[in-house]
Amino acid sequence: MATVDRVVCEDCKVRIGSMVARGVVPPVVNELLTKPRRVVTAALPIRHDDGTVRTYNAFRVLYSDARGPGKGGIRFHPEVDEEEVKVLAFLMALKCALVDIPFGGAKGGVQVDPSRLSKGELERLSRAYVRAMLPVLGPRTDIPAPDVNTNEEVMGWMVDEYAFLTGRHEPAAFTGKPLSLGGSQGRREATGWGGAFVLAAYLQYTQKRDIAGLRVAIQGFGNVGSHIAEKLAQMGARVVALSDASCALYREEGLDVPALIAAKREKGSLSCVADGAAQRIPHEALLELDVDVLVPAALAHQIHEGNAQEVRAPIILEMANDPVSPEADAMLAQRGITIIPDILANAGGVVVSYFEWIQNHENRYWTFNEVMEALQAKLQEVTRALLDRCWKEREQCPLRAIAYELAIERILAAERARGHIA
Ligand code: NAD
Repeated sequence: MATVDRVVCEDCKVRIGSMVARGVVPPVVNELLTKPRRVVTAALPIRHDDGTVRTYNAFRVLYSDARGPGKGGIRFHPEVDEEEVKVLAFLMALKCALVDIPFGGAKGGVQVDPSRLSKGELERLSRAYVRAMLPVLGPRTDIPAPDVNTNEEVMGWMVDEYAFLTGRHEPAAFTGKPLSLGGSQGRREATGWGGAFVLAAYLQYTQKRDIAGLRVAIQGFGNVGSHIAEKLAQMGARVVALSDASCALYREEGLDVPALIAAKREKGSLSCVADGAAQRIPHEALLELDVDVLVPAALAHQIHEGNAQEVRAPIILEMANDPVSPEADAMLAQRGITIIPDILANAGGVVVSYFEWIQNHENRYWTFNEVMEALQAKLQEVTRALLDRCWKEREQCPLRAIAYELAIERILAAERARGHIA
């Protein structure tokens, strides 16, 4: 009977395998980076308000701890599963190595539709997650943060549960916390603003131009999409299209981003009524607009085999995790479309999480401007280093492949220093 290696991350194996085959990373990577170091699964029993009990499947994956403790968000989503958490943990390991912060990569998830839970049920679920995962969490072990459908409030409950169980207030065990519990200024803005800093550094390096006048379309208007829209508009870009799950809006002269953010705050979604001068367009049409930069900031694989041929923007800035499917990636590369990959474009969040962790250890808190200046400097440096490697050393410059290569080299250097490889 054939046996299946349950631990292997199949998707990660494919991504690494193609790099080994091309000879850009050594074969030992197949052994070291196709299996996460630790996978914990749990069933969380939750008592519902109506007295019924349900168990929810929960996961925590530590993909690599070669460079430091695990780092990665916890996602509450009905479709999250073990394989998806492994892939996301793998991407976190690469992201932390690429931006050169002293963390490995991790991720967590609970298979749940949080919109069907009351606030009390959500709190019980968040606390149950910490109880189940306690042995593998901690400021020097594995540090969670918010991700899709989790937020500061959830982190607050988790910090409290962790303190209750260990008898210690340990703010550095979680990032993305409320400010009153040791959160960092700028954490909310970090991912979106970070994407704008990366794009600005990219344009300056490759085209000697700045953001002003750039025409941009953004898919997704949640934490990431709204903050990058805000920052790009402040930097002088014309945000001509925006969408969320409720609708998509287009205005050639540029949308009124602050008004849309205010309307979203009030109504909970774009709802397509806030900007009277804008026109409503079908969701798919946003991805096909003739703009300078397309910013997918919603979900995975939004650009796929079926629509990649229709994309007209010359640059895609991947703010969501994994928004371009591997098939689409190859099709876009053939058409000469530049993809600024997720592990660089959306790294602002984890960089400010790192700043939060430092502040918690030092017990000294930075101002918003200090955080943003440090974030901008960090992302500029990382983007330039990546482009140096691309443009000075290669004829072809597939940014994702070069970013993976650089990250994997750093992880291997740590594995070598630990004596795990020769
Ligand atoms: P969020 O839940 O706050 O926002 C998601 C947005 O996408 C919502 O506005 C939703 O309405 C919209 N959306 C869903 N389906 C859509 C569709 N079909 N078309 C258009 N819009 C749609 O989540 P977020 O925190 O903004 O995260 C977005 C993405 O960025 C995710 O892939 C996440 O993993 C990634 N990311 C987030 C962070 C962070 O710090 N929040 C960091 C790194 C990566």
